[in-house]
Amino acid sequence: MHYYSTNQQAPLASLEEAVVRGLATDKGLYMPEQIKKLPKEFYDGIAEMSFQEIAYRVADAFFGEDIPAEELKHIVYDTLAFDAPVVHVDGNIHSLELYHGPTLAFKDVGARFMARLLGYFIKNDNVNENEDCNVRQTGEVNVLVATSGDTGSAVANGFLGVEGIHVYVLYPKGKVSAIQECQFTTLGQNITALEVEGVFDDCQRLVKSAFMDAELNAHMRLTSANSINVARFLPQAFYYFYAYAQMKRQGKEGELVICVPSGNFGNLCAGLFAHRMGLPIKRFIAANNRNDIFYQYLQTGEYNPRASVQTIANAMDVGDPSNFARILDLYGHSHADICRLIGGATYTDEQIAETLADTYHRTGYLLDPHGACGYRALSEMLQPGEQGVFLETAHPAKFRDTVEGIIKAEVAIPEKLQAFMRGTKQSVPMTAQFEDFKAYLMSV
Ligand SMILES: *Cc1c(COP(=O)(O)O)cnc(C)c1O
Repeated sequence: MHYYSTNQQAPLASLEEAVVRGLATDKGLYMPEQIKKLPKEFYDGIAEMSFQEIAYRVADAFFGEDIPAEELKHIVYDTLAFDAPVVHVDGNIHSLELYHGPTLAFKDVGARFMARLLGYFIKNDNVNENEDCNVRQTGEVNVLVATSGDTGSAVANGFLGVEGIHVYVLYPKGKVSAIQECQFTTLGQNITALEVEGVFDDCQRLVKSAFMDAELNAHMRLTSANSINVARFLPQAFYYFYAYAQMKRQGKEGELVICVPSGNFGNLCAGLFAHRMGLPIKRFIAANNRNDIFYQYLQTGEYNPRASVQTIANAMDVGDPSNFARILDLYGHSHADICRLIGGATYTDEQIAETLADTYHRTGYLLDPHGACGYRALSEMLQPGEQGVFLETAHPAKFRDTVEGIIKAEVAIPEKLQAFMRGTKQSVPMTAQFEDFKAYLMSV
């Protein structure tokens, strides 16, 4: 299958080119040329299938032409080495818990899949060295990733131990929580953490400059693992199908509304792809924090990106959501079509805190600040007869200080997180000057 750019100014790319490049040469986002509908038999039998079986069928529709079946199956099964249960919260509202992976956030799915796919391509290229393709050079691939917290841990853990790949995580000194920091600074092996004297934007600038530096690119193979990569965002479609299957098992799949706490909109976009593949979802709701650029777009038809503001649901503090271009492309830039399928909501920190505390005290279910936006949107917008599922995108313990402050009680830390916290922090101090970062990379 080929991938085109949302800007329409770049040549079609193969899957491998799209994955290695991340962003198209015209700065657009890659889209698969086809989104195949899955057959009726698949939907008829979906309730009896496992998460991995379902995911393999979905993966085959996108990647089956490019990856041998056995390899793809292995990649999918190895990626999804954990569950994503739908848990009833109250009334017609359910939580799709996407925090059972190694770093307790949904980004584990995309990061693990991408790491394994890239690992497969590298292995394959090193076997077929003489094949002629401009992205094919042999040798180690270096993944550069800037993080304000969650992305770094998901990417670092997703790529941990994958042969042929080295990951450099750049994070702002003193700006990520201790729990987040230990998830990417204690790993060792093929993961190096760089503690940057600056803010997140500095980290991002260093990474972007590195990709544009000719000398550096001649010296080493560089790639990114950010959320716009097709290998990270498409696999997120898997759990929408699995959520449907679980609702169907309970006879509650009739009028399904899925609510997605959104920042860069990769997660929602994957759900829209699932819908395009025939998954019977009645409608979607995108829940925003105060960074409500998408919500405003739904209201007015105008897209006005602006600087992000800090909130307690900080993984959604995005002022110019990158996957918006994919949503526009998917619906032919029709505001009316987008509004028919997707509703919006926006909440202040006070409302998020109120929802988190109230839901906990009333039902015993502990939300994280992102999931709280999703829960609240369903509680306000669900119509009679509809069943709602919101994506619980991270475990509340990842935001322990915030959550404990809100519920006035202790949050138990899952064993997986405790294990990270027992590790020894190792990171390389780095200034925010590109010359220093470049000199470091040239020397390793
Ligand atoms: C990344 C993230 C989001 C936002 O997801 P997008 O795909 O960027 O919209 C929401 N919640 C958590 C916990 C996240 O880490």
